[in-house]
Amino acid sequence: MANKEFWSMDVTIYLYHFSRPLYHAKHYLGSSDDLTRRCAEHGTLQGSKLMRAAAQAGIKVRIARTWKGTPRYHEALLHTRKNHSLLCPICVGPKALKRGIFNPTSKTKTKSRKNRKK
Ligand SMILES: [Zn+2]
Repeated sequence: MANKEFWSMDVTIYLYHFSRPLYHAKHYLGSSDDLTRRCAEHGTLQGSKLMRAAAQAGIKVRIARTWKGTPRYHEALLHTRKNHSLLCPICVGPKALKRGIFNPTSKTKTKSRKNRKK
């Protein structure tokens, strides 16, 4: 991936919600500069393995949420949350839309293990 693409603001991040879990997975988070093309690819050999497996298992998927005009690295930040259900309005309702908003000026605090309260 070119560095320019990683920082450019013309990416749409999308969150798919699965009608039922596929093993541990209930969501798929991805990004593309062409959402229509990428959505058409999912379920085919050009799509992700997880989305292809969901299609083969007969799981219905739908886009629960998108983030338009964000840099691709925002997807990486969302992946670090490890719980996509909290970002999904289908799972937790409208309060999900207040989470995961891209803010380039925010200073995300990460707690190191030794500073974490017990
Ligand atoms: Zn969901």
